[in-house]
Amino acid sequence: MIYENIIKTENKQSNRNRIYQLVYLQGKISKPDIATQLGISLPTALQNVKELQAEGLLQEGSPLQSTGGRRAVAVTCTSNARYSIGIDITRNHVRIVIINLMAEIVSSLRIQKIFQNTTDYFSELGNLVDGLIKDSKINPELLLGVGFSVPGVISSDGLLLVYSHVLNVSGLQCSQMKRYLPFPAMLCNDANAAGYAEMWSDRNNSNALYLALSNSVGGAIILNNDLYSGENQRAGEFGHMTLVRDGLPCYCGRNGCMDSYCSAQVLSQHTDGNLDLFFQKLRDGDIKIQNVWKEYLEWLAMAINNLTVSLDCKVILGGYLGSYFEEYLNDLRRLTADISTFDADSEHINVCKYKHDAAAVGAALLFVRPFIEQI
Ligand SMILES: [Zn+2]
Repeated sequence: MIYENIIKTENKQSNRNRIYQLVYLQGKISKPDIATQLGISLPTALQNVKELQAEGLLQEGSPLQSTGGRRAVAVTCTSNARYSIGIDITRNHVRIVIINLMAEIVSSLRIQKIFQNTTDYFSELGNLVDGLIKDSKINPELLLGVGFSVPGVISSDGLLLVYSHVLNVSGLQCSQMKRYLPFPAMLCNDANAAGYAEMWSDRNNSNALYLALSNSVGGAIILNNDLYSGENQRAGEFGHMTLVRDGLPCYCGRNGCMDSYCSAQVLSQHTDGNLDLFFQKLRDGDIKIQNVWKEYLEWLAMAINNLTVSLDCKVILGGYLGSYFEEYLNDLRRLTADISTFDADSEHINVCKYKHDAAAVGAALLFVRPFIEQI
């Protein structure tokens, strides 16, 4: 499922492209309905569908629900006509996903691997990807490319990791990272990649703010179904907005940043770095942990309120903490509504859909979108 306007359309978009995108967005649709909805003749629709079927991009699916008479056959996209790879690199782990054109994960792996800017590290990445492709029995010719998600500032062309505090590296070229991968490649900031994946999965919102609540706090701003990166590719660095004047020290060198109050480490430092254990103790009614959580939610509510009055859009809770938030969402919404100037319910705050795979899926989508746009 993707949002209706997510795919860029050109003025002189071909009927073939309009047909493909309509089928992609609707999931399944009959040939007469394609003609009706696009305002083209039935023979034109039939001819284009036939060509797209011959190329393996569309296929006939199960009959549609009938309201009487003969049931029309549905046309659907061939999910596995192409694939894309996403690699999420963090300081201590690597997560690799292979997705199909519908952004469904067909294969994935996660291993512990400490980042090193060395030939050995990137050669090992090449081996891991190679192994995953073989295990999933995918034809490598159907792979569109490799997107890297990295925690850092990326150049606007996606070909240079300008700087990463987490990985302790600067000026790293994409061409170095993909040396052992025989596919086109691009880089994307991790929070932007995760926000991009969430955007792709949501039909109902064209504007959203993604909050990456991991060991550091990052984020992404999505406006009109596109990432807003800012003039210096630094938009969405919510972790460094000031919550408290002269407050707790932040790793950026300043004090009182949101990061110092809302990162996952604020919680996990009470359970030896183990977030699962933190939430286990919270459920078990540990008084100390409950107080830590209560204070955490209050800071987060304040941060979200600041962001909401600025951008007035849906807020998606993601990062490591995102997947734990389901059962505490109402508490956070209530706290945010209590301090809000405008909202009585704060239902614009939501939990992410992709959980731990969001950044890798978003990176892989970097190659799916242009493919769909050029069909
Ligand atoms: Zn900071």
